[in-house]
Amino acid sequence: MPSHSLAAEDLFRCTLCGDCCRGFGGTYVSREDVRSIAAFLATDPSDLIDRCCHRSGGRYLLAQRADGYCIFWDKTCTIHPVKPRMCRRWPFIESVVTDAFNWKIMASLCPGMRADVPLDSVRECVQRILASEAPEPT
Ligand code: SF4
Ligand code: SF4
Repeated sequence: MPSHSLAAEDLFRCTLCGDCCRGFGGTYVSREDVRSIAAFLATDPSDLIDRCCHRSGGRYLLAQRADGYCIFWDKTCTIHPVKPRMCRRWPFIESVVTDAFNWKIMASLCPGMRADVPLDSVRECVQRILASEAPEPT
């Protein structure tokens, strides 16, 4: 591991402000996410999709309320133990590896992200975290 290697917590500590649970184009859910959330809410996946999701480009997105917040936001994430993979991964996502400058853009929107770290160190950390993950289920 290079000497400048950073751990995830060196780069990001969520402040629980909830800003990412509003707008941002919505939250995609995989079939595995739908199964987990439905089980957590003691409902079945088709009911969850009917009540809490809508379709976009052949995939499901969590619905948003009129105020723009995710349907599961209520001062905190009400499905935190089973929140979608997309929410769990933030901000360690592929687009940072593709172009590390995306980290700066994301950090301007997310107060939990450090924007003062060299981008090559950010990219190395994100790449390492993604490489250690299991393949994303659909
Ligand atoms: S915007 Fe960032 S700091 Fe705020 S809740 Fe989302 S991930 Fe956490
Ligand atoms: S599932 Fe939870 S963490 Fe993800 S956008 Fe909705 S409220 Fe936020």
